[in-house]
Amino acid sequence: MDIGLNRALMDIYGSMYEKEGSRHWWPAENDFEMIVGAILTQFVSWKNVTTAIENLKRENLLSIEGICSANIEILEELIRCTRFYKQKAKKLKVFCLHVESRYRGSLDKMFENDLYDLRRELLSLYGIGKETADCIILYAARKPIFVVDAYTRRVFGRLGYFKEDESYDNMQRFFMDNLEHDTELFNEYHAQIDGVGSKYCLGKSPLCPECPLSKICKI
Ligand code: SF4
Repeated sequence: MDIGLNRALMDIYGSMYEKEGSRHWWPAENDFEMIVGAILTQFVSWKNVTTAIENLKRENLLSIEGICSANIEILEELIRCTRFYKQKAKKLKVFCLHVESRYRGSLDKMFENDLYDLRRELLSLYGIGKETADCIILYAARKPIFVVDAYTRRVFGRLGYFKEDESYDNMQRFFMDNLEHDTELFNEYHAQIDGVGSKYCLGKSPLCPECPLSKICKI
């Protein structure tokens, strides 16, 4: 670990936390709902994800057994508002059938795997990419892996740490190499970055005067 970078990263974290407080991320009632949200949230606003989750709840399908037994066309209809709904319905089905067949439907059993074994397993499933897998590992399995995303690239790019096209792996390594591996810290840090990225560090017109990072930002 680079002590200077660790201090800088913790200062950035402290500035964000001081302004926003805990973000209580991930917004879900249980681990399975968290996973469904992580699968549905790609390329769509969170508002649409919550609508889809409410639809699944209303039909008593928000469970591993529920998704496994659901008719695929009905599932597609219930999550239609999340875009790419056919692929997403298939992703939900594949994930749930996998947990059902290998772990008798128990997420707890699945989460007993070592962090990197679990990551390999998740990445082997249809439609689960690095960001989704890492969200599941951090927020549902509660194991310390740092989640990065487009907000991380933009905010830390403007802070002077990343190139515009910095890869997922490079960004993740940067945080993992220079922060203590602590699940609570990684949980809140990612949530804080997404808070700054969505509220202040907007694509075309960032709201720098209000941003908690304005004093240290390179822009
Ligand atoms: S000061 Fe401006 S450019 Fe820098 S992180 Fe904040 S919003 Fe983004």
